[in-house]
Amino acid sequence: MPELPEVETIVNQLNSEINHKTILSIENLDHKVVDKKTSTIKNININNVCRRAKYIIIALNNSQYIVIHLRLTGHFHYFKNKDKFTNEKFCVAKIYFNDNSLLTFHSIRRFERFDILNQSELNTLTAPLGPEPLDKSFTADKFQQLFQKSPSANIKTKLMNQNIIAGIGNIYAQESLYYAGINPQKKIQDIPSEKLTNLYHEIQRILLQAIKHKGTSVDDYEHLNGEGDFQNYLAVYQKSHCPKKHPLKKINISGRGTFYCPICQK
Ligand SMILES: [Zn+2]
Repeated sequence: MPELPEVETIVNQLNSEINHKTILSIENLDHKVVDKKTSTIKNININNVCRRAKYIIIALNNSQYIVIHLRLTGHFHYFKNKDKFTNEKFCVAKIYFNDNSLLTFHSIRRFERFDILNQSELNTLTAPLGPEPLDKSFTADKFQQLFQKSPSANIKTKLMNQNIIAGIGNIYAQESLYYAGINPQKKIQDIPSEKLTNLYHEIQRILLQAIKHKGTSVDDYEHLNGEGDFQNYLAVYQKSHCPKKHPLKKINISGRGTFYCPICQK
């Protein structure tokens, strides 16, 4: 599933391709995935495109928001000339712009979401979300306090809980825990505070690196211009050995496959 770096990559690309354009109309090709209210969007300008947790939020100048969650298989294609679009499988929405360009949204598994929300609906959606790990105001102290509130919880499960900290999923939780030297089976109370501080720094370092590489293309993730390449820099996720050549173990934590190194992660 796309996580913070993948969604951030797409948001950056959308900002350069569609920001401040006028949406002429949205063609809705799948009412299970795409909100019926798309039919009301006619000749509306885009104010900006941003990310909150794993949501893509396109702010419109009529006080509405297009809110997209990529879930497992959601992705976009962009055409500078709408006539270049050839009827592609899995296309669920087509957004037509005033400059003859076209943005298409595709959903293979149909769990993805493409909604039109007003301000109060957006607030309700985002209110429970935890802080953004890359926000300047999110300090190492705040990270410690946040996690020490649930001392008996499993560290990896908490890292992936969007209401504790936003944007981290199964890939980046495993990678950060590896570099911080923390066994993913640990309870928070059993992790020394210096190691939690390391984890805070490793999360930021890894997320920023993954954004630089336009995300990790495993499963179905693709950004507007193709695939990311952070999969070539992973330490443990879906690997057999850690970077120090120790054999990895694969276990199950809260229903999710988890790779770790029993030697490097204590
Ligand atoms: Zn190792």
